[in-house]
Amino acid sequence: MTDPRDNPFRTLAQQAPSRPAAELVMPVSEEDRLRDELERGILFTTVESLVNWARANAIWPLGFGLACCAIEMMAIAGPRFDVSRFGAEVFRGSPRQADLMIVAGRVSIKMAPVLRQLYDQMPDPKWVIAMGACSSCGGMFNNYAILQGVDKIVPVDVYVPGCPPRPEGLLHGIMKLQEKILTSKIELGPFPRKKKRKGAAA
Ligand code: SF4
Repeated sequence: MTDPRDNPFRTLAQQAPSRPAAELVMPVSEEDRLRDELERGILFTTVESLVNWARANAIWPLGFGLACCAIEMMAIAGPRFDVSRFGAEVFRGSPRQADLMIVAGRVSIKMAPVLRQLYDQMPDPKWVIAMGACSSCGGMFNNYAILQGVDKIVPVDVYVPGCPPRPEGLLHGIMKLQEKILTSKIELGPFPRKKKRKGAAA
């Protein structure tokens, strides 16, 4: 009788791997499945989430100020308040390189067309923060020389109350804007989506 170990093509009986009973009955949760995927170095997301994440964490404000609120705005760029923690420290000198307009101070009627022109020169997508009582609603200057709210000439995304708001208030406004950007819809392609005609097939 030959020894079966001499045969190089022998097959051994397969034994089912022994697993703990708890592992067999416990359903795998969605979180565990996601963790398994992450451990393999794969992450699933959407283009919209990725683009919004990039936009929200790399806001470039336009560097200009109109009145006393601007001093508080300048403070956020310093080491004490350090707006770079939120990725918004790159104040730009040209509206063509900026995507956030912080209206810091009262807007005079004379300045209104200049402000609107700066806004028009900013590329899309762009956002506006009205900082302080004056830019939000005219503040204490209820007179013919001051615009009674900058939302009369540009669309405002976030209003920051106060006279003046503290730098922390403006930081909070920037964080609110980030939340808004993260949940916004993005336009894919250079043209806006066409509206469906009435009666068109779905
Ligand atoms: S809100 Fe107050 S601090 Fe700001 S520009 Fe107006 S007066 Fe000055």
